[in-house]
Amino acid sequence: MKLTLIVLLGSSLAATTLGWKYHYTDTTMNWTQARQYCKTHYTDMVVIQSQEENDYLVSLLPNRSGSPYYWIGITKNHMNETWTWVGNNSTWVGNESWAENEPNNNHSTEFCVEIYVNTNKNRGKWNDEKCSNQKYVVCYEAQCNATSCGRGTCKETTENITCHCELGFKGHRCQTGFLLTSPTSITCEATGSWSGPRPICTIYKQALLAVAGCGAFSGFCCICFCWMKHRKRKKLTQVRQPEEETSPSSEVHG
Ligand code: CA
Repeated sequence: MKLTLIVLLGSSLAATTLGWKYHYTDTTMNWTQARQYCKTHYTDMVVIQSQEENDYLVSLLPNRSGSPYYWIGITKNHMNETWTWVGNNSTWVGNESWAENEPNNNHSTEFCVEIYVNTNKNRGKWNDEKCSNQKYVVCYEAQCNATSCGRGTCKETTENITCHCELGFKGHRCQTGFLLTSPTSITCEATGSWSGPRPICTIYKQALLAVAGCGAFSGFCCICFCWMKHRKRKKLTQVRQPEEETSPSSEVHG
């Protein structure tokens, strides 16, 4: 997986993958402030969807020698609720996610989560914490935008973005589908007839083949025309040659 680190004015750092872009702070804040920070500057607090993603994220973050560590975007409002990722409402928690004896909901007030990033055995593990505690935060920035997938819906993954194409469209970015091959609009005129032919949608490949076919046909016609012209010129030269051969002898006789 490719990785680039970018320093942003010393207040926030970012790591880029082909898909999501991660940002982390070097200042601490409580969980509510942390979420607000992420939503203001990026998309939301980081969402982790698999153990692989968890490990990859940990590999990007600088180690801390002790608390505070980093807030991640999973929380709940009270004890009986399911842990939920605020960025996408998913509820993924892996078998290996929590540190030993966690979540312990110490004092029944630990509804936010930090991730340990250190060199100890609990590296990459999670701990439920009191939301008012001060910690660094990891945010994510979505890479999908309105133009990412042409005629399709963009889905974020760790390594890339995936396009789910509309019916009839395909290709890496859903750009292969139908093509308008006639005027975009026609008007009903005062005479009661349409101003032009009805717009037609052609399958992109067929349109491409038609253009290529026309090109090839034009090329063929051009070659034929040139060849015929060449033949005609050659014939004319052959007819003229005997006349030229006879003309010097007539001069001698004169
Ligand atoms: Ca705890």
